[in-house]
Amino acid sequence: MTKCPFCDAELVEERREIEKGVWAMVEVCPNCKDEWIDEAEHDRLVGLFKRKTFNLGGSVAVRIPKEIADALSIGAGTSVDFTVRDGKMVISKV
Ligand SMILES: [Zn+2]
Repeated sequence: MTKCPFCDAELVEERREIEKGVWAMVEVCPNCKDEWIDEAEHDRLVGLFKRKTFNLGGSVAVRIPKEIADALSIGAGTSVDFTVRDGKMVISKV
């Protein structure tokens, strides 16, 4: 069992919704209420939100992770809009 580095209490594992429909396992201190995330879960989340583009025909494509697509109810054939602002692209369901 992992202990809180501040108060030495035993951490309790909980499933937390970090974004709408996207869940992560965190360890919570029952005293401090601080939340900790282990390295494997951290790496899983980085992999979930960090993607690499690839060529698809004459276009550049990016895969949407299933967990995020499910959370947003996006599937093959879903109509989306692009917004480009301040060098960032936002994809929204129509
Ligand atoms: Zn603590």
